[in-house]
Amino acid sequence: MSTKLAFFDIDGTLSAPYYPVNGVLQAGMTDEQWLEFCRTYREDSYHFCKPVMPVIRYARELRCRGAELYVLSTSQTKEEDLSKEHIIAKWCPDLFREILTVRKDSEKTLKILEIADALGVDPAECELVEDTYSLVLDAIGKGIKGTHVAQIVCDL
Ligand SMILES: [Mg+2]
Repeated sequence: MSTKLAFFDIDGTLSAPYYPVNGVLQAGMTDEQWLEFCRTYREDSYHFCKPVMPVIRYARELRCRGAELYVLSTSQTKEEDLSKEHIIAKWCPDLFREILTVRKDSEKTLKILEIADALGVDPAECELVEDTYSLVLDAIGKGIKGTHVAQIVCDL
């Protein structure tokens, strides 16, 4: 079945993680450090991250084939929400219909099913693009197409 609704994760999927910690760019930090980081950098928290261009090209291809695209990201705070909105607007304005955030990873597939139901779309016509393997499996288990970021990057 072709994808009608596609949902893209940000961290590790649309965004390659680079964050300055003690003067060195690194891939991540503890949850507490991240909360403090977002309070400090606010909407610029993704300033040093880089867009994953194969994933953005994949999103464009899906949209050319008629899919509606959403960002679906887990975010802890309003500051983090703001920084995600900011970086998506900077990297790929007008690509996504909406930026959706959930507070817990486990809410992602429920959110997809909720939107699919509201729009009258079969879950099998929905696709989650993710780097967290357990969430890809969770999607597949609920009848949603689950695509791991490595499946996209390795093809290009
Ligand atoms: Mg991720």
